[in-house]
Amino acid sequence: MISIEETHKILGHYDTSKLTIATMCRHSALQLFYSAKREGFNTIGFYQQEDEKKTYQAFPASTPDEFIQVNKYTELGESKITDELLEKNSILILHGSFVNLGSDFILNDLKVPTFGNRYAIQWEEDRKKQRMWLEEKAGLKMPKEYSPDEIEKGKIYFVKFGRARGGKGFFQCRSRSDFKDQIKILKKSGEIGEEEEPTIQEYISGTRYYFHYFLSPLSNEDWKVGDKAQLTLMGIDRRDETDIDDLPRTFLSVDELRKSDIRPTYTVVGNTPLIARESNLPKVFKMGERAAEASFELFPPGMIGPFCLETFCKPDMSYTVFEVSARIVAGTNYYIHGSPYAELAFGQEASMSMGKRIALEIDKARKQNRLKEIIT
Ligand code: AMP
Repeated sequence: MISIEETHKILGHYDTSKLTIATMCRHSALQLFYSAKREGFNTIGFYQQEDEKKTYQAFPASTPDEFIQVNKYTELGESKITDELLEKNSILILHGSFVNLGSDFILNDLKVPTFGNRYAIQWEEDRKKQRMWLEEKAGLKMPKEYSPDEIEKGKIYFVKFGRARGGKGFFQCRSRSDFKDQIKILKKSGEIGEEEEPTIQEYISGTRYYFHYFLSPLSNEDWKVGDKAQLTLMGIDRRDETDIDDLPRTFLSVDELRKSDIRPTYTVVGNTPLIARESNLPKVFKMGERAAEASFELFPPGMIGPFCLETFCKPDMSYTVFEVSARIVAGTNYYIHGSPYAELAFGQEASMSMGKRIALEIDKARKQNRLKEIIT
């Protein structure tokens, strides 16, 4: 595993007046390039298909200064590309598409310094670790989990699969045979692999809120997390999931649809902006604070920069956290001028998107000679 010391040694050789921000041309790269360029950084985008490059060229204010084409994104671990990136004093911004490459790759093969704590990706990826972090250590409420034998007829369960799959293949089930039948269908259609382990959860009924936080170890104003960092609520979104989100318009039940071989899925295809009931905001900050504090103990130096708690708000105003993203989420893409919360925190002129907040953090760290505090 690449150690923080090794990364900091590399960082020691960087010309910090000529930093490059590099990322994969996917997920949240447009806002990341847009902000990094405006804050004076050189930018590099990795892409596979020509159409991806053309897409990033079609938004000239956000086109990276340089492109690097790869056949597979795992080539980012090879020495040819690594050497070029190190030569250009590059800092990688990890987003959801990096998480799909797996933490093994990120922690063992990706030698280029990354913004934030790359070790946090393991705690996002592994559901057992996630539970240890959020439920056991941070004391947040999460959906109960069951083994297939514990499924009781008549109750509703939610079945999901690992990693950042974007909800693909997730389903509700109501009995052991229903569970087995649906797993068989998913394997047969290739939607899930033969070896893929399902996680069976209590079905949570509520309204979804995805809270975008930014944790800065370089600041210590309100909302303070111990004496270590400052927590900011940058925005809230909700994911648009096909085809479940438009089903209410059909007035058909899931059972009726299944009879016609239509199986509703939860595949993420977009995001919509949201604000929360204002009297719930103290709880929202407290959840972020607890997750941050637990991260300091479990995977030092803990969370750095953006993270997201994905929650259901229930009718009793309590939140159940069903997922965490330990890096920027695509739901921040909507807020290129900043969300209402970012405006309330930074002022209208700041136009504080998550991409801009990241670029400013790197800029502040380099000016104060504190890059090691935000790079692993
Ligand atoms: P995720 O990939 O974990 O963000 O989940 C994708 C979607 O599945 C969420 O946006 C929810 O709509 C749904 N979901 C996840 N966990 C549960 C649960 N325990 N109960 C009900 N719905 C869930």
